[in-house]
Amino acid sequence: MRLKINGNFNEYYAQTLCLLFFPGSKFSVKNEAEKDEPCAEITVTDDAENITVMVSLSHLAKTETAEASEPKAKYSRTEKCANIACGKAFFEAGKNLLGVRPQWGILTGIRPSKFIMDLMGEGNTRAEAVKILKQDYLVNPKKANIAAEIAAGEQKFIKTLDKNSCSLYVSIPFCPSRCHYCSFVSCSSPKLLSLIDDYLEKLCRDVSETIDVIHSLGLSLSTVYIGGGTPTTLSEAQLHKLFSAIRAKVNTAELEEFTLEAGRPDTITAGKLREAYEAGVTRVSINTQTFNDDVLENIGRRHTSRDFYNAFEIAKNSGIPHINTDLIAGLPGEGFLSFSCSVDRLVELRPDNITVHTLCIKNAADFSKIKSEIYRKNVRDVTKCIDYSQIATKNAGYEPYYIYRQKNAVGNLENVGFALPGTEGKYNIYMMDELQTIFAVGAGAVSKLVSLEKSKIKRIFEYKYPYEYLSDTEGQKRREKLETIEKFYAEIRGE
Ligand code: SF4
Repeated sequence: MRLKINGNFNEYYAQTLCLLFFPGSKFSVKNEAEKDEPCAEITVTDDAENITVMVSLSHLAKTETAEASEPKAKYSRTEKCANIACGKAFFEAGKNLLGVRPQWGILTGIRPSKFIMDLMGEGNTRAEAVKILKQDYLVNPKKANIAAEIAAGEQKFIKTLDKNSCSLYVSIPFCPSRCHYCSFVSCSSPKLLSLIDDYLEKLCRDVSETIDVIHSLGLSLSTVYIGGGTPTTLSEAQLHKLFSAIRAKVNTAELEEFTLEAGRPDTITAGKLREAYEAGVTRVSINTQTFNDDVLENIGRRHTSRDFYNAFEIAKNSGIPHINTDLIAGLPGEGFLSFSCSVDRLVELRPDNITVHTLCIKNAADFSKIKSEIYRKNVRDVTKCIDYSQIATKNAGYEPYYIYRQKNAVGNLENVGFALPGTEGKYNIYMMDELQTIFAVGAGAVSKLVSLEKSKIKRIFEYKYPYEYLSDTEGQKRREKLETIEKFYAEIRGE
């Protein structure tokens, strides 16, 4: 996509606005647009009282232009005033050009409920925060309301959250095979899977040392989340080893929550979940993504809906108290009828948690070559699917409890976690709303050090790939991480 800016405007934000209407676009630096390449031109005029932005959008020989003006006095920062004016003009031009009205308007952040909470933190009531979303950010009322409902539910957890608590994320970036829509750093080739034993050896050491650090900082561990990839790619013995490393340092019975993201039904066995139960796991995730076997084959999942039912039954019988299941709206080959049928079948099973994702294809995915085709076809249908999931879960007694958005999701739609009351996945809330520090270990993991009092967040990135993670034999990365953690806590504690 070609983007031209006349005047003073944040290019990154301009690109984000372009992605609202042309998801997945890459921004070209050439002067002349290629055939069929969308173009956006933004012209900003700044006078003493107002910022006025004109946006011209062109695609497939059609051009639409719109203008919006915002008074500077209404905003705390001039940049915010310019962003809203540009967003409004962009929204109008895009809507007229493509006949699409983005459901989240010009709200570009990934955490809508946190946005509501921040507005409330600035002194707005919940109703006023919803009004700002609708009027300034042009968010569809349904979306503004679900964000506000989730924000209200999250307040409960914020009030009771121990300020000295933290969580631990353990990364298992291995899968038995690769799904075509996946862009995650997950290893599935036999050569990479052969690294698991060495990886686990190092991971267990890191888990142990990280828990020591948590204790030495005087923090208490509230949740542990083993995520992936597909953690149940590990054998029973390998899982036993990982659980033992955790239990050697933590009384898992005292954790608020201990999640094993099993993921793929084709990796779940009674033996693995027995290990999990005995280790104190309280929540397991089993993800079918759809109940349509043709779609499962099309997306390379290598399991059937029957495999999911079997895995669900195993989980039910394992004694692990809570089960989460995931669905994805917008998978290629799945329309509204098939998706709504998947929602109905899942609700019938009554897992404690249901997470509904919107398809999001990034460049590393096998499907990236057909991304624009998938995106173009799907927006209206996927919007209907997401709406349906929210109505059907509500009617079945579920409540939405966390929400996030991903850049480049179809229609810029959201991912929402639903829970039967009292079964909410707490790690998801703490992590998504940045309410406590998450110490993360393993390849691809990102630790997030959080101080709510000082409004400070510091991220620490691990090596991306397992072979890089294993190459750190001298422990240099580990030392750097430790120094960063010590410095962060010394600073926020004024030491
Ligand atoms: S199971 Fe999940 S992480 Fe693994 S390849 Fe499929 S989508 Fe990616």
